[in-house]
Amino acid sequence: MGKDDCIFCKIANGEIPSATVYEDSICRVILDVNPANKGHALIIPKEHYDDIYSMDADTASKIFTIATEVAKAQKAELNPDGLNIIQNNGAAAGQTVFHFHMHLIPRYQSAKNNDILMWSHENFSDEEMAQIRDSLSQN
Ligand code: 5GP
Ligand code: ZN
Repeated sequence: MGKDDCIFCKIANGEIPSATVYEDSICRVILDVNPANKGHALIIPKEHYDDIYSMDADTASKIFTIATEVAKAQKAELNPDGLNIIQNNGAAAGQTVFHFHMHLIPRYQSAKNNDILMWSHENFSDEEMAQIRDSLSQN
């Protein structure tokens, strides 16, 4: 099962041990080995998907359902001030492991490492915004 050379296939399917906090038939939730913060967790589907583009909506909805449970457990047990859910697709977006995964990163006001998710802003003209909206719109 899974791609032979994929570390997250091996982790998700239990061939490589991991700090597992939840497991079911769809996915495994583990602690990130190199956490941005205390409690940084990864939801990893057991089936291999490179990224969001190859994932079906049903699996995606199951993963997000599990995210709600992991988020609540993190909140109850770790008492963070906030939570970021991040899911990188493509090297340009920071993806380094090319097996779909979702990051759940608790945030703490007191943490030194508070520059997760900082971006500057781009400006687009009204025409460009309308063009972008139309190109993405189903209607
Ligand atoms: P990406 O940048 O692809 O969105 O995130 C990959 C994440 O996987 C990184 O945060 C990295 O620390 C984590 N990671 C990579 N290899 C392993 C591993 O073998 N075990 C665990 N637990 N996390 C890993
Ligand atoms: Zn894989």
